[in-house]
Amino acid sequence: MSREPQDTRSGVASPGSGDPHLRRAAQGHPFRLADAVATLRGRGLRLTPLKRAVLETFESGDCALTAEEIGVRVGVGMDLSPLYRCLASLEDAGILTHFYGGDGSRRYDPADEFGVHHHHLVCLNCSGVTRVEGCALSHEIAAEADALGYVVSDHEVVLKGLCPDCRDDKPQTPRA
Ligand SMILES: [Zn+2]
Ligand SMILES: [Zn+2]
Ligand SMILES: [Zn+2]
Repeated sequence: MSREPQDTRSGVASPGSGDPHLRRAAQGHPFRLADAVATLRGRGLRLTPLKRAVLETFESGDCALTAEEIGVRVGVGMDLSPLYRCLASLEDAGILTHFYGGDGSRRYDPADEFGVHHHHLVCLNCSGVTRVEGCALSHEIAAEADALGYVVSDHEVVLKGLCPDCRDDKPQTPRA
């Protein structure tokens, strides 16, 4: 398979990107529906059936989902506009956040306060997403920022490259 460098900002789907697969590098995701509902109530926002269904999807442990993938899970029809409004509302409320995958697709994730802080590896060839647990960046970044007079409250990092299946020099037997 050829390995053309791809411009991730173009939003052009990579060849053969079917349903991107989420690989889980470690254990679960304590996103709790009850926490999200309490936040919505506290902000005077309604818990619509669609919002509940979306939140239940994340409570089930999924993350890094596109709107289309969420739509399939919650069973909305062809018209995704209510779902887009719902996702925007949940982002405004600070419950969900997003990042961009290897194919430029917008992927939704629980915000740090509602899940465990983690990062993602995205494959620029097949658009696969791997969740990475743990983070060693906070201290180093805080030290740099401190030197510049900032107090850092948050960071977003997406690691981009080629997954084990897509790299030409396949690694020798990764730990099973
Ligand atoms: Zn995630
Ligand atoms: Zn790949
Ligand atoms: Zn981090």
